[in-house]
Amino acid sequence: MMDISNVEKTVLDAKECIQRTEDVIMHTYNRYPLVWDKGSGVYLYDIDGKKYLDFVAGIAVHALGYENKKWNEAVKAQIDKLTHISNYYYSVPMMEAAEKVIKSTGMDRVFFTNSGTEAIEGAIKTARKYYYDKHKKADSEIIAMEHSFHGRSLGALSVTGTKKYREAFEPLIGGAVFAEYNNLEDVEKKINDRTAAILLETVQGEGGVYPATKEFIAGVRKLCDEHDIMMILDEIQCGMGRTGSMFAYEKYGLKPDIVTIAKALGCGIPVGAFATTKKAAALVPGDHGTTYGGNPLATAAVNAVFEQFEELNVLEHVKEIGDYLYEKLEELKNRYDCIQEHRGLGLMQGLEFTVPVADIIKKAIEKQLILINAGTSVIRFVPPLVIQKEHVDEMIEKLTASIEEVQYNK
Ligand SMILES: *Cc1c(COP(=O)(O)O)cnc(C)c1O
Repeated sequence: MMDISNVEKTVLDAKECIQRTEDVIMHTYNRYPLVWDKGSGVYLYDIDGKKYLDFVAGIAVHALGYENKKWNEAVKAQIDKLTHISNYYYSVPMMEAAEKVIKSTGMDRVFFTNSGTEAIEGAIKTARKYYYDKHKKADSEIIAMEHSFHGRSLGALSVTGTKKYREAFEPLIGGAVFAEYNNLEDVEKKINDRTAAILLETVQGEGGVYPATKEFIAGVRKLCDEHDIMMILDEIQCGMGRTGSMFAYEKYGLKPDIVTIAKALGCGIPVGAFATTKKAAALVPGDHGTTYGGNPLATAAVNAVFEQFEELNVLEHVKEIGDYLYEKLEELKNRYDCIQEHRGLGLMQGLEFTVPVADIIKKAIEKQLILINAGTSVIRFVPPLVIQKEHVDEMIEKLTASIEEVQYNK
């Protein structure tokens, strides 16, 4: 038995925490030197008690902000009752969460996972199984998009359109073909009689905050219908109210055959899902599984998220505050030559700079504002969905000062 009695329990300060963490945690992230201690509303506090405005939300996770009382209570109550039972049995929280996902997505069947990546894995397996059932052969292809992001597992990586993420880990799963996002002609060219699915983010997140055009999404839907191909929309980042509708595809007036969800689905409890139409629900007993997925704790969190979305009228709020953020970022873009483009929907917006944004983000941290990039030249704005105008104003003020100072120093 390992002796852990000599592991010191009290952390004295941020510096010590960072040093001790780097000594033991695998170095797969270059972290900011910030040690978070607690969250409240749309603010985070570091271990010295310093308060920061949060425009990252744990990467589009904390839709409800921090310390939502009802979510906290629901999760705590479920911990006291029962957290896990495995998927050999039923539970009321899973039933309710599944009903909510089905109702809000317009799909017919759902499978709960522990992450977005796993939701992608399930979606790919579903499309492959549908193809296999139909053609009685296992040689299907999936068309995915350049600059997409779907996760880091070997399957999700295979359909992620950033070469540097994939390269060292090849050979990945076969049959992935890449097309240019928002280029319908390119997608059409890549369809053949082995194509099982077309996979895309309704709004590309990591790739730089690019919403799909109406023509593109509608065209992909049409191609999928014509060829009996599964249309998979990855709404892991842009779903759950982020764009002002529960799912971004509602804005385009259509539905996919398969949708993937995660990030804000649990608002801090790890949970994801993929949902399909009845026709696309090709997985049967023995085809797929998970130990934790959909357990009572995770699905109690999901239920609380949906309930809070209703109670707080989150979608209406996102529309209003998203417009306000849009207006303010547009002003900023018009003011600075170093900002070349402004894109986005609802509370998922991006500013593309002509320069790398790392220095601006570092400056913002000095001013107690946290921001996140998407690639080297885009600042991505994915705050908690419950932010108010005053928080947008505070962010704009701090960002403006950061841009000024960074430019000044050049
Ligand atoms: C974050 C993200 C994923 C991966 O989700 P994880 O929960 O990190 O596994 C997949 N697709 C999109 C669009 C994402 O933003």
